[in-house]
Amino acid sequence: MATCGGEQPIGAPVTDLPGVGPGTAEKLERLGIATLGDLILHLPYRYQDRTRSVGFDELEPGKACLVTGQIMASSINYGRRRSLLTRLGDGRGTLTVRLFHFSRSQERSMRPGSWMRCFGDVRIGPSGPEMVHPEYRLHREEPPPAPPELTPVYPATLGLTSARIRKWVDAALERCDGAVASSLPDMPFAELLDAIRFLHAPSSERDRIDAARERVVLDELTGHYLVMKRRQALLKRQSTIALPSGPKLGRRLLEQLGFRLTRAQAKVTAEVLEDLAHERPMMRLLQGDVGSGKTVVAAFAAIRAAERGCQTAIMAPTEILAEQHFETLNGWLVPLGINVGLLTGRQGAPERRARLEAIRDGHDLVAVGTHALFQAGVEFDQLALAIIDEQHRFGVHQRMQLRDKGRLPHQLVMTATPIPRTLTMALYADMDVSTLDELPPGRLPVRTHGAAMSRRDEVVDRVRNWCAVGRQGYWVCTTIEEDEENELNAAESVHAELADRMPGLRFGLIHGRLPQAEKNAVMAGFKAGEVDILVATTVIEVGVDVPNASVMVIDNAERLGLAQLHQLRGRVGRGSTQATCILLYEAPLSAVARERLAVMRDTNDGFKIAEKDLELRGPGDILGTRQTGEQTFRLADLGIDRHLVPRAVALGNRLLAEDQATAQTIIDTWGGREAEYATV
Ligand code: ADP
Ligand code: MG
Repeated sequence: MATCGGEQPIGAPVTDLPGVGPGTAEKLERLGIATLGDLILHLPYRYQDRTRSVGFDELEPGKACLVTGQIMASSINYGRRRSLLTRLGDGRGTLTVRLFHFSRSQERSMRPGSWMRCFGDVRIGPSGPEMVHPEYRLHREEPPPAPPELTPVYPATLGLTSARIRKWVDAALERCDGAVASSLPDMPFAELLDAIRFLHAPSSERDRIDAARERVVLDELTGHYLVMKRRQALLKRQSTIALPSGPKLGRRLLEQLGFRLTRAQAKVTAEVLEDLAHERPMMRLLQGDVGSGKTVVAAFAAIRAAERGCQTAIMAPTEILAEQHFETLNGWLVPLGINVGLLTGRQGAPERRARLEAIRDGHDLVAVGTHALFQAGVEFDQLALAIIDEQHRFGVHQRMQLRDKGRLPHQLVMTATPIPRTLTMALYADMDVSTLDELPPGRLPVRTHGAAMSRRDEVVDRVRNWCAVGRQGYWVCTTIEEDEENELNAAESVHAELADRMPGLRFGLIHGRLPQAEKNAVMAGFKAGEVDILVATTVIEVGVDVPNASVMVIDNAERLGLAQLHQLRGRVGRGSTQATCILLYEAPLSAVARERLAVMRDTNDGFKIAEKDLELRGPGDILGTRQTGEQTFRLADLGIDRHLVPRAVALGNRLLAEDQATAQTIIDTWGGREAEYATV
């Protein structure tokens, strides 16, 4: 709603509300709330049922509820910890309210005969059911029945309680009465605003809440789809450099590769080259499981551009991966007379200057880099193609930033995070999709085992035995937070420990803090077989390709999500040796962690893992926005709302055909942030 502009109350800043000063506005900003519209769309994520007092004979331990009773007695108990015990009765049973922290006046206020209404969790205490520190209020008379609406609980931030947010939401709703929002006559809640209003203060009918939520989620997903469609339409009107088939340098690469393309690689390469032949900018998503061979497809595309004297920018999410692409492409392209350059954030100034110069004057026809390639000061002579690898690591926003002389280059986005078909339809509606659905021949699925930390010694022994007879392996260290410092400490101590316990084996250590030159040296040593075991942080997660490595141990695997585990495991099983992956975990496992490890044991199929991952985790990751700290959807959760995606697509298409005004309203409601980059 942010885009509705000044004339709409919805676009007004939150500071327009009474009681919201700059300090509060800053806290709200942290929740992504800047305008009244944002506030209205900040929906509760759960509710408390305070609509009915539960009788003392029907209390359920572990459940939060509202109770009302009369004080029978109150006394201080001097047990292990001093506490104030107040015994309530409601004619059907008794309940004890226990306070560990209390003031003299609180103690005095618990007068027998007074009424008390509490909301809190019930547990079983020494003398029957009790509540510890419930929210409570005292009444002289029996209090009236509770209001019939459920109490919303909002995603809150430090210093902002749900109750305060609730107050501002109410004020915002009042101000925004009559604002423009979609109206869809054949839905249970025709008016979006009615559904929103209901969700902030619903009656306790579960069906109605579900219907209202569905109405809002459908609106949001449709909004996303419409923005993508609009972007696609805009793109169709743009033109860029057409790259028709030229001197056929690709043929020469094919002869020199040393392997034959899989059927899938051949097909996808043809799709990409066909796109490039036209003036309309290519916008293609290439998805293929880890190890399916996406890099070579990228190489053929870059060759096509180079044949026309045009440049290609290839962006990788990590330095290690950029370095590796650089090496691979150097090996493939230099023999064809195509210069490849590397640009990363950690290069020294003279080297960087030299690279920038070579990119500017067109000497480097292929520039490989990290996000350093996005930075101002990088000018191309004739950029025609941008290839973005492992796209889930970049924000959606960045994927459009690279332009040359106001012109969009052709774009190829490669991802190893398989996205279920139903989702690509809506989420990547602005892109064409190619899929590498086949692995190069001879690959054996990685055998995966779980092992509790208590068996770590056994695991060390096995790894030592394997590596003593010439296998190579990774030992991956994880930390709880994504904190480089911690990760580094963990990796260093594991490195020391293992080196001590496996005398005779050669160890390497790699982590994000290592200077580029050392990283390269370590990776090169591992590739050349001079290192038996590479102790690594999760920096090796994406893309790293050392076909001889066939052993992987992931320390504290329970800390990682499925997508990350799958990516890591993809580092082994790239050659013809049967590979093994051991997931070391700290017991006891949470239910979700147990399920994740079971999925990893049961399948190597990236699509199946992605489906399962959606079920097991929260929203956000699939569009890659979590990395940049932005949430893609306000309410929709692809884990639970996937079934609405086809409906959103159908609705979006119908509106585009029959009701442009409503389509625009929906875009305005949800498109605020996305619209910003829709036009680039
Ligand atoms: P990813 O899709 O994960 O990026 P890569 O492009 O890194 O995969 O390829 C994985 C490995 O498979 C590389 O060593 C690459 O040289 C090799 N490879 C790619 N295509 C084939 C093929 N058709 N036959 C044999 N090996 C291949
Ligand atoms: Mg790759």
